[in-house]
Amino acid sequence: MSLDLPGPQAVRALAPGKLVIASHNEGKVREIRALLEPFGIEAVSAKELDLPEPDETGTTFFANAELKARSAADLSGLPALADDSGLCVDALNGEPGVLTANWAETGDGARDWQLAMRRVEDRLQMIGPAAGRDAHFVCVLALAWPDGHVEWFEGAAYGTLTWPPRGTVGFGYDPVFVPLGGTETFAELPPAQKHAISHRADAFGKLVAAVF
Ligand code: IMP
Repeated sequence: MSLDLPGPQAVRALAPGKLVIASHNEGKVREIRALLEPFGIEAVSAKELDLPEPDETGTTFFANAELKARSAADLSGLPALADDSGLCVDALNGEPGVLTANWAETGDGARDWQLAMRRVEDRLQMIGPAAGRDAHFVCVLALAWPDGHVEWFEGAAYGTLTWPPRGTVGFGYDPVFVPLGGTETFAELPPAQKHAISHRADAFGKLVAAVF
């Protein structure tokens, strides 16, 4: 799947130094920190800086990534990198998509990923055996500077959904996602292997090629 990129941007280099990872999701922060490590970037998370989490009011991965990155860059005065990502299931016309995190909401403000995976599975069961199990993760990274400049990078990882969930590594929907050509779920693979093939790594590779 290819999403429409916003208008062309002049690519700006990112100098070594401090960068805010504009996320309160520990799984994402852990993965992005590992990806940034080789580039002389001192990554600090929005949570560590006590920055508020903006409401994700956008209707696209691009819009939500941008609003999170802009908010953190404005408030911190530092370049900020945000990730908006989600799971798109072909038989569900791309749902949960941009609402992936919402499918984990329990109603009392908490998030339950077992419940979220079960919701996806229930929807597939309702369609019946004819429903294919193809799915892909999408990741859009937005890199924003305090002066308002922003760059976007999109990545994807294709695979199929399995049930029941398997594995304990990773986060979110990892235990039900088997990447194309593999047999283990993202939650069964060692982190380095997931990092080599994930949607986040794909987007990050594009970022590295452009800004480092
Ligand atoms: P958001 O980008 O904060 O809207 O949240 C996206 C949600 O998608 C996350 O909270 C995860 O549940 C899910 N997600 C994104 N990337 C991954 C991944 O690498 N593995 C598993 N789930 C993911």
